[in-house]
Amino acid sequence: MIRDPQSFDAFLTSLRRFVRDKLVPREDEVARNDEVPQDLVAAMAEQHMFGYSIPEAYGGLGMSTEELVLAAMELSQCSVAFRARVGTNTGIGSEALVADGTPEQRERYLPRLASGELTGSLAMTEPDAGSEATAMRTSARRDGDHYILNGTKCFITNAPIADVFTVLARTDPDSTGARGISAFLVERAFPGVSTGKPYQKMGQAGSPVSEVHFQDARVPVSALIGGEEGVGFKTAMKVLNKQRIHLAALCTGPAIRMLEDAMRFVAERRQFGKPLMDFQLIQAMIADCQTEIQAARALILQTARERDEGKDVALSASMCKYFASEMCGRVADRCVQMFGGYGYIADYGIERFYRDVRLFRLYEGTSQIHQLNIARLTLTAAGYQPGR
Ligand SMILES: Cc1cc2nc3c(=O)[nH]c(=O)nc-3n(C[C@H](O)[C@H](O)[C@H](O)COP(=O)(O)OP(=O)(O)OC[C@H]3O[C@@H](n4cnc5c(N)ncnc54)[C@H](O)[C@@H]3O)c2cc1C
Repeated sequence: MIRDPQSFDAFLTSLRRFVRDKLVPREDEVARNDEVPQDLVAAMAEQHMFGYSIPEAYGGLGMSTEELVLAAMELSQCSVAFRARVGTNTGIGSEALVADGTPEQRERYLPRLASGELTGSLAMTEPDAGSEATAMRTSARRDGDHYILNGTKCFITNAPIADVFTVLARTDPDSTGARGISAFLVERAFPGVSTGKPYQKMGQAGSPVSEVHFQDARVPVSALIGGEEGVGFKTAMKVLNKQRIHLAALCTGPAIRMLEDAMRFVAERRQFGKPLMDFQLIQAMIADCQTEIQAARALILQTARERDEGKDVALSASMCKYFASEMCGRVADRCVQMFGGYGYIADYGIERFYRDVRLFRLYEGTSQIHQLNIARLTLTAAGYQPGR
């Protein structure tokens, strides 16, 4: 659903210009310094990028899912670090509050997340609970007006710079699986909360990721999201269901950009007396990239519209994430191939994209986990009862 097509078109045009004129020229600097500079963070905040999906009542742009994915496909046509800087606020770092927060919790955090004053993040994964997220062991024990949290979360995007963490922890020590898990909004400033050294990663320089530690961390009872124990995993699933569509769009933007860069290269570079673009085997790679990009775009837009209509999109959201992240990997590989030896050299930028996009197939559900989910939902819809 696009609320006002004319003004949304103007918004997308201006976003495209911002990405091309302000962000793309600074990509090398971000990669070199492993940081998005403060002036660009401020510029992105001015563009309301931190609050795309936060309701207007709390200072965000209140985008529908369709609007969000269209904006994401534009914003992500530049180095992944830029959208990762704002992406937790307008995705996994605010959505639990949007979905299930109490009015007081929303009032307290959402306006500052929307403006970019606070950086949010989602702390769910643990060293022994990755794909099997329900194996998490971080505990939250009630102690008067507080919960005492103990445990370690790993691989948390933006943790080194985050002010608030959406944390999943076990309030019922005897529970197993999804039951007994609760969600909290934990401030970095709470006693007992700390973050580890940023990881050295394969790619996405400028997007800091680290562990988060809770050592007898004292978290006020008012930080329990929705004020209800035991429903945290349901909240997390709501967050991730929407995020799968969002992330799929964020996989599509880099693919569009890589293909554009590759086409510019093959139009200029000559071998055997002709531009590379004249060779049919090069054209086949362009055709495969373009077809897959458009297929992802169509699936994402259809799913976003269905979500806006209130339909259950659990299956198609999973297909979006699986297809778009795998598609992006295949596009990256073909584009490096089109660059030939230059594709392996850092000066050309395409190798950075190649490394950056590798992560898409790993986080927010690996491709294998999505395959299992898609198969299970498809079999179930057909009346079968697959074993787990
Ligand atoms: C840079 C980065 C940023 C991240 N950001 C966040 C974040 O902000 N917040 C957060 O909470 N988490 C985050 N994550 C964690 C991410 O979601 C997990 O890494 C992911 O869910 C996979 O878990 P794992 O790494 O423990 O792999 P594992 O679960 O150990 O999987 C290893 C391999 O086994 C496969 N596998 C596992 N189970 C099955 C199965 N049943 N059938 C078939 N194959 C299977 C997987 O597909 C994978 O190939 C991030 C990770 C990275 C690397």
